[in-house]
Amino acid sequence: MRKLDTRTIVVASHNAGKIREIRDLIGPLGFTAKSAADLNFVEPDETGTTFEENAAIKALASAKAAGMPALSDDSGLVVDALGGAPGVYTANWAEKDDGSRDFAMAMGKVEKALSEKGASAPADRTARFVSVLCLAWPDGHTEIFRGEIEGTVVWPPRGSQGFGYDPIFQPEGHGVTFGEMSAEEKHGWKPGQAQALSHRARAFKRFVETCLEA
Ligand code: IMP
Repeated sequence: MRKLDTRTIVVASHNAGKIREIRDLIGPLGFTAKSAADLNFVEPDETGTTFEENAAIKALASAKAAGMPALSDDSGLVVDALGGAPGVYTANWAEKDDGSRDFAMAMGKVEKALSEKGASAPADRTARFVSVLCLAWPDGHTEIFRGEIEGTVVWPPRGSQGFGYDPIFQPEGHGVTFGEMSAEEKHGWKPGQAQALSHRARAFKRFVETCLEA
């Protein structure tokens, strides 16, 4: 395991919602971070078939372009009744013909696929959000951290906080969706705290334990 000996990194993402969440998580630890979008880095093609492969593609591209460590996130919604879809293709389900993303449309596609399967009871609509973080160095070394949160796909969408598919995901043990939670509630984590809630905060906690703590 390689420790991170700098607090200046690149957030290897072009996704505004993710960049905001990663900044929320690293900010309290004294990091300064530019994103791949701020630096006008070309977005690499996500040609992998796993979250781990795609996270590594993104982190390595930014680390090599910037000459400094880079942290990426590859994430998605894994719905049991859909055989794990949209999974690594979660972002693609939101893509429109003109290349822009429409998450109301994407959430509608998930609902349509579930209703075609007759999955109307909450027990038939189980899902998890997965986040795989990759920390990469310019010399090609990588460290990988996975976080998951179990929950249920609800319909109609509820709440306008967060991003992406948050309004249709209700984490287990909670009566509200991620879209109805503040960022603090969704992450459920601060440095030094034992528990984390969101998939991203859970992966981030592992990153902190592995690469930052002595
Ligand atoms: P990628 O990791 O860039 O391939 O895209 C991940 C996709 O999953 C994005 O389209 C996000 O909208 C969705 N996603 C990942 N994490 C979250 C989350 O915390 N809330 C809502 N949607 C998410």
